[in-house]
Amino acid sequence: MITDDTIVALSSGTGGAIAVIRMSGEQCAEICDRVVRSAKGRTVASSKGYTMLYGNVTEADGGVIDDAVVAIYKAPHSYTGEDMVEITVHASRYIIRRTIARLVEEGARAATAGEFTARAFLAGRMDLSQAEAVADIIASHDRATHHLASQQMRGGYSEELQKLRSRLLHLAAMLELELDFGEEDVEFADRTELVQLMEEIAAKIESLTASFALGRAIKEGVGVAIVGRPNAGKSTLLNTLLGDQRAIVSEVAGTTRDVIEEHLNIDGVDFRFIDTAGLHQSDDQLEQMGMERSRKAIEQAHIVVALIDGSTLPEENDNAPETIRELLAEIGCEEDERMIVVINKCDVAACDSQKVAAALPYPAVAISARNGEGVERLVEQIASTIDSKRIYTDAVTVSGARHYQALMRASEALSRARNGLTTASPEMTARDIREVLDCLGTITGEVTSDQILQEIFSKFCIGK
Ligand code: GDP
Repeated sequence: MITDDTIVALSSGTGGAIAVIRMSGEQCAEICDRVVRSAKGRTVASSKGYTMLYGNVTEADGGVIDDAVVAIYKAPHSYTGEDMVEITVHASRYIIRRTIARLVEEGARAATAGEFTARAFLAGRMDLSQAEAVADIIASHDRATHHLASQQMRGGYSEELQKLRSRLLHLAAMLELELDFGEEDVEFADRTELVQLMEEIAAKIESLTASFALGRAIKEGVGVAIVGRPNAGKSTLLNTLLGDQRAIVSEVAGTTRDVIEEHLNIDGVDFRFIDTAGLHQSDDQLEQMGMERSRKAIEQAHIVVALIDGSTLPEENDNAPETIRELLAEIGCEEDERMIVVINKCDVAACDSQKVAAALPYPAVAISARNGEGVERLVEQIASTIDSKRIYTDAVTVSGARHYQALMRASEALSRARNGLTTASPEMTARDIREVLDCLGTITGEVTSDQILQEIFSKFCIGK
């Protein structure tokens, strides 16, 4: 990664009235002063940081491209830690293109994806997990994703890992010192302390990896598959939940042929409701394809809402559970901890579906998707599957797959080290502990390589 030149890119998004072109690097002031001319003869070079300059963006022959306001940042007090300017122009594609072209003509280089943030990381302005959170905060789309990203950006995450790592680093150094003494039977690293620390770290890693399910669900949206026989009321329920008529409702069985996905925000968390095609035997090729997609959707869902048509239940409350069991088996929803049984059409059911639902040995709600009865309770039940209290506390939640994988690898190496402490050679133990240190270090960027950096920053947009 080249860091000694001056880079430029459009940093604002498409649309809008104004555009922000960002430039960072040692020659920033010089280049900008050759392109943006202030009427009063002010220059970026002679200006202080955190000030603004007004001027014209000009062609090489002096022709005016646009008016511009330049925000000036002086190293190290900028996003990248380098000298930086942000040139605001009108958001015309022509103006943007010409302005960047002029800056490049005068010596700047077009920035690659994520290069501003990569420089911020390399300059020590933020650690790697914070740099990754920049991408997440830009992509955040609701209160929960915003909270996770901003928590990570503020460094809550890195702090915990760095503390663990530095304690282990100390003990690893002691262990390695023992190796240097070879034959002499010395013990610098207190074994009881080492075991204690390993257990503490293992517990921490476990709580972090356990939070990943929640973190990922929040980031990707919590998948809720609505499953049921044709005509159970899946489309109607989805419509009632969303308050509009998006999915097709039909009296003919098997109308919802494809998987329909709709989003509902509950307590700041994005829930993805997936209306699956009616799961039943069908020769229709189109329907079969839809059903295959349904199975996939169920497999990947966090929550499975098993919808039962209450109007098909027997009159006797006591007989209903048996029929429900059969219906659940038919739609492939046996004993699944993700399942919420919903008895629909309580308005026309012959049995007392509220009572039947309350007596079932798994979470169950009786509703009428058509008139809305009980739907609020169902929403509460769905929301309660996500630990929203945890999201909004200061508890650290892992949401990045890269971090999760590094933690899993650290955990494996740690258990090898722990098991080998009494049986394996000290060399092996030292090596395993090094691996734990490396894995934890890749998360914060204390241990890094060009390849890791490239992988991370190439996923960013240009201008970030
Ligand atoms: P899907 O095939 O599971 O998507 O079922 P639909 O949502 O298309 O509903 C099938 C039929 O059941 C439609 O005529 C709906 O109006 C009706 N229906 C759905 N929910 C209810 C309900 O709560 N009560 C009554 N009485 N009818 C319902």
